[in-house]
Amino acid sequence: MSEPMIRLENVGKSYDGGKTFAVRNINLEIEKGDFVALLGPSGCGKSTTLMMLCGLYRPTEGSIYFNGRYVNNVMPKDRKIGMVFQSYALYPNMSIFENIAFPLRQMHMKKAEIIEKVQHVAEIVKITEYLKRMPAQLSGGQQQRVAMCRALVKDPDILLLDEPMSNLDARLKLEIRDEIKKLQERIGVTSIIVTHDQEEAMAISSHIAVIDQGVLQQYAPPDELYRHPKNLFVASFIGNPPMNFIDGTLSCSGGVYECVTEGGVLKIPGEKVDSSLLTGNHVVLGIRPHNFDLVGGPEDALTLHTDYIEHLGKENLYRCYMGDAKLRVITPISVDHPVSEALYVCPDYDFVSVFDKETGNIITK
Ligand code: ADP
Ligand code: MG
Repeated sequence: MSEPMIRLENVGKSYDGGKTFAVRNINLEIEKGDFVALLGPSGCGKSTTLMMLCGLYRPTEGSIYFNGRYVNNVMPKDRKIGMVFQSYALYPNMSIFENIAFPLRQMHMKKAEIIEKVQHVAEIVKITEYLKRMPAQLSGGQQQRVAMCRALVKDPDILLLDEPMSNLDARLKLEIRDEIKKLQERIGVTSIIVTHDQEEAMAISSHIAVIDQGVLQQYAPPDELYRHPKNLFVASFIGNPPMNFIDGTLSCSGGVYECVTEGGVLKIPGEKVDSSLLTGNHVVLGIRPHNFDLVGGPEDALTLHTDYIEHLGKENLYRCYMGDAKLRVITPISVDHPVSEALYVCPDYDFVSVFDKETGNIITK
């Protein structure tokens, strides 16, 4: 087996001599050409992880390897990385050309070679026409493209991006997101992007590392995170509108597992149930808003009451409650259910996750 492009082994970063941890015991392998998103809420340790990869922070625990080489002590400039930050950080008194050429001049590269390299990367990122301008003469999106060029001009092994789109407006964000994705595919550079936006991570990356409070929760391709979240945190963080969570108690009668909830009793199909499941367990059922079927009555179904309906154009979103629990149910637009009448829904069991309420971990297969 060849070594992965990047390997993190029990990597941690603490402050105050080990009292506060920004990142704890992260294990991660990233293959050449992967596009990985570090995803999690603000303050969970994403930037800290990225800074350890680029060498600006030293891990207080564990080891980082690039292609099997231990790099904990390697200076940032010797790591063959390119970085793009949230603020474009262009030098305001240098032309765009000079901004991109800057890292090459620091390497004392020959003038002709610098011109060739800058022009080459400017063509790839499609900013050739701006090379003579000053940063103030470019929009935010154009400046971010220049920052991409500056990161790519040294032909890095690894591209690191820290919330590169968070200063852009919603439409431009989508545009730049597409551009970054296409560019990464075209040049194939192993890339890691930090984002708190699950939709952005799902759209752009080949693998997502979900982090909460400095701890890696799950590392998987986007569709796997969506379909098979390992715990309640991942389940609640991925997907929009978010997954519904329903408290219940597991019971077993005649070999059939049932989940007793406030809104009704659901039979859990045998193939979903791990034989080690104990009855009497307090569980949380996770069901996405798209994964309900409307049925005619309360048997083997949940009885919901509707607060109001959002007509979203391509589908309807029923805002419901079941006791204290609030739920969202998405239906085709053809469903026209009166708000005043009870709504009976049956989950599509292929897509139901059952979590242990105490540990938050998934207990279904
Ligand atoms: P994210 O990028 O996910 O928003 P960070 O990696 O920037 O989060 O920060 C992770 C945690 O580490 C936060 O709780 C933050 O307050 C803490 N932290 C970051 N830098 C320092 C520092 N120099 N001293 C103490 N705590 C820090
Ligand atoms: Mg950050």
